[in-house]
Amino acid sequence: MAWDFSTEPEFQEQLDWVAQFCRNEVEPLDLVFPGAAYSRNPKAKALADPLKQQVKDRGLWALFLDKDLGGPGFGQLKLALLNEILGRYRSAPVVFGTAAPDTGNMEMLAAYGTPEQKDKWLYPLMNQEIFSAYSMTEPQGGSDPTMFRTRAVRDGDEWVINGEKWFTSAGSHADIIFVMCVNGMYVVPRDTPGVEIMSYPQLHNHIRYTDVRVPAGNLLGPEDGARVLAQRRLGGGRIHHAMRTVAQVKLAFDMMCERALSRESHGKVIAEHQMVQEAIADSYAELNMLRLLVLWTAWTIDNSSTQQSRTQIATCKYTCAKVLREVSYRALHILGSLGTTNLTPLQAMFASSPTMAIADGVDEVHKATVARNVLKGYEPHPGIWPTEYIPAKRQEARKKYADLIAADPDMAAWADMAERSVRG
Ligand SMILES: Cc1cc2nc3c(=O)[nH]c(=O)nc-3n(C[C@H](O)[C@H](O)[C@H](O)COP(=O)(O)OP(=O)(O)OC[C@H]3O[C@@H](n4cnc5c(N)ncnc54)[C@H](O)[C@@H]3O)c2cc1C
Repeated sequence: MAWDFSTEPEFQEQLDWVAQFCRNEVEPLDLVFPGAAYSRNPKAKALADPLKQQVKDRGLWALFLDKDLGGPGFGQLKLALLNEILGRYRSAPVVFGTAAPDTGNMEMLAAYGTPEQKDKWLYPLMNQEIFSAYSMTEPQGGSDPTMFRTRAVRDGDEWVINGEKWFTSAGSHADIIFVMCVNGMYVVPRDTPGVEIMSYPQLHNHIRYTDVRVPAGNLLGPEDGARVLAQRRLGGGRIHHAMRTVAQVKLAFDMMCERALSRESHGKVIAEHQMVQEAIADSYAELNMLRLLVLWTAWTIDNSSTQQSRTQIATCKYTCAKVLREVSYRALHILGSLGTTNLTPLQAMFASSPTMAIADGVDEVHKATVARNVLKGYEPHPGIWPTEYIPAKRQEARKKYADLIAADPDMAAWADMAERSVRG
């Protein structure tokens, strides 16, 4: 009997340390010097680097990577439990060496990079000596990769890239950009001539690539392999989003419960009003359904592969967006006017829910994938009636008791009555 929802005591100790470290070190840094963990400013680094060192000393750096690549090799299930804590704090993923978009890019490099490519980019990325971005979406189309046009053409020992990309997160901050072309995935140093970063949007950049020349060795994985690499990258990224969303939803839920017990209206504490209780009960159910879905998916990845878990990963992606929207809305509502301000995390959390339903693939596309894959396990019913059409099933079942019905009038009457009741 292998069903078991418990956490090993040794790993629980790690989780307890992470929770206390995030509360005592990461959150204060976020509150007083927002962005310091990401900054290259030497004064900010002097604050953030010792925290990163503590994480490394504890063996918790680059949590998502296997042991042979320098991570602790926890696997996805343990990572999910850790992300339930890290996802509460804005810069915790950076302090633990697990921040997007670098994580997905590192996964691609780890899976498809040559030893030289790993030396050049993977290890510096792991140590946050450099930062990266991922250029896939184009202005004329995001959800449908057949609409992408950016292409690399071989010229001697170089590739020459031409195209335009939209919404490359942290592109202006990155040292290297993974550029998805229709004929391969290429690593492009940001300062290469021809890389032009538009002035807006500011965080997710619009980038033009005009006659950008990179050495032949900057092709990652096989020629024409960009879509396979992209799936590898995005599969991991999506489940990590969902893991961190569990943390956000739990934060909203905690805030909702605390406030419900603290505020009075119409003669009683608001937790005693039934509609507030409904909000709490629905949120509790949705939080735990999401959490179990994510943990089950993480467990499935550990016991098969990201590719074999893609239906579950897609389910996590649109479900986490929906649960985030619903629970953060209820929490915001229960905090009343205060909830609508930026004096608590709730307003930003609620505002981020549409983003969660778009980034790394829009809900509709994931839902279509899930429905398509799930339907592969089904067949149309053979005749005009569904398999569960009761009269037909009963006729078939009567054959099993044909001798008894023929021999015993009481039992025949009973069986006939059952048949009449469904007709009636
Ligand atoms: C915060 C954030 C960060 C991002 N970071 C990056 C990044 O680092 N690099 C990168 O390359 N991209 C990034 N993206 C872009 C992201 O990948 C795209 O936004 C996403 O793939 C959707 O593409 P689109 O925005 O062009 O929307 P569209 O493809 O234009 O879709 C718009 C809408 O059309 C409808 N629709 C589209 N297709 C279907 C369909 N098949 N069935 C039904 N309805 C459909 C849906 O309602 C959908 O919401 C990021 C996006 C966000 C929000």
